[in-house]
Amino acid sequence: MKQTDLLHISESYGDPSYVYDADLISSQYKRLCDAFAGVEELRLHYAVKANSNLSILKLFNHLGAGLDTVSIQEVQLGLRAGVNPKKIIFTPNGVSIEELEEAVKLGVQINIDNLSILEQFGQKHPNIPVCVRINPHVMAGGNSKISVGHIDSKFGISIHQIPHVLRIVELTNMNINGIHMHTGSDILDIDVFLYATEILFDTAKNFKQLEFLDFGSGFKVSYTQGDIETDIEELGQKLSTRFNKFISDYGRKLTLAFEPGKFLVSKAGYFLTKVNVVKQTTSTVFASVDSGFNHLIRPMLYGSHHHIENLSNPNGKERYYSVVGYICETDTFGSNRRISEITEGDILVFHNAGAYCFSMASNYNSRFRPAEIMWYQGKSHLIRERESFEDLIHLQKEISF
Ligand SMILES: *Cc1c(COP(=O)(O)O)cnc(C)c1O
Repeated sequence: MKQTDLLHISESYGDPSYVYDADLISSQYKRLCDAFAGVEELRLHYAVKANSNLSILKLFNHLGAGLDTVSIQEVQLGLRAGVNPKKIIFTPNGVSIEELEEAVKLGVQINIDNLSILEQFGQKHPNIPVCVRINPHVMAGGNSKISVGHIDSKFGISIHQIPHVLRIVELTNMNINGIHMHTGSDILDIDVFLYATEILFDTAKNFKQLEFLDFGSGFKVSYTQGDIETDIEELGQKLSTRFNKFISDYGRKLTLAFEPGKFLVSKAGYFLTKVNVVKQTTSTVFASVDSGFNHLIRPMLYGSHHHIENLSNPNGKERYYSVVGYICETDTFGSNRRISEITEGDILVFHNAGAYCFSMASNYNSRFRPAEIMWYQGKSHLIRERESFEDLIHLQKEISF
């Protein structure tokens, strides 16, 4: 997509708006498939929570991907998008056995991440195949807020408790058909990730009826120029070789599964906002846009960096700005950014806005959530309308005083 395409979209649909480039999503998906071309059975489950718009889910279905879901509602969205339930894995954390049973009724693969529910489920439904999520206690990422594999994490069954899992399997005669891990976001070091996969292989040997091994995700994408990115090609090559060796020892064909979110959609997303006010204070120049953490919370929640450009004045002289929102809270998107000179009314674009942006948006300050637009085959398509006042109140019941 060109910058002028984004500007045209802003003119046609208004601001703030999210834009997703379908071609970029497809090429990331293809890149991941190519990296693991050495594996006979590969299944990529797109992590719905990164961006759950139905058109995004339909695009992944069209590409041949499955889905990774964390709530029964995400399962329902996937089915609504036409995805075959057999290609959907349900990987929740801390949900009730009833929600798991509901997912089973919908025909999807379930993944259990605690001993208590595993035992209850095995007793009630010994014939339904279950995947087990383990915690290898390896921290593959750099940001502890988004690492979920370390020792005090709430995710997964500790590998030190595998003997207990085996006892449950023996007692209930349940069928464990998959082993899963997800060490959390942002793999900085492939060798650390490969070390975690060794723990998964080691665990897998204990189970005789496996059909797949799921290595989760955590592929890091770059947010700034020169930022490190997971070297997918190197990982693909090393892990494929290791995986093929494992299945030949295991004596049975297995599917290798991954469930990336950010890697597939982050870079394909652009967030368009308009500058309402340029405010010079004694120390800083603020550019206030028509948005805030109600629409894009990652900078405030995780300290994430989203590159910001001025689409309206791409060749202007660069100056320093703090880009902030219009929410009555501190909602700084970026401090002291070099951006080409900003005039009120200019359109700023935030990069890497495809993952965990709209899907984490809220109505705080009673603002409407933005519109979403997909850029597909050189044309823009509205895939979610901007909210209206009616959307803010339609579930409320008013008391008369
Ligand atoms: C969030 C999540 C993912 C996706 O993580 P990304 O960093 O977006 O690739 C995959 N699997 C599980 C279980 C998750 O919770």
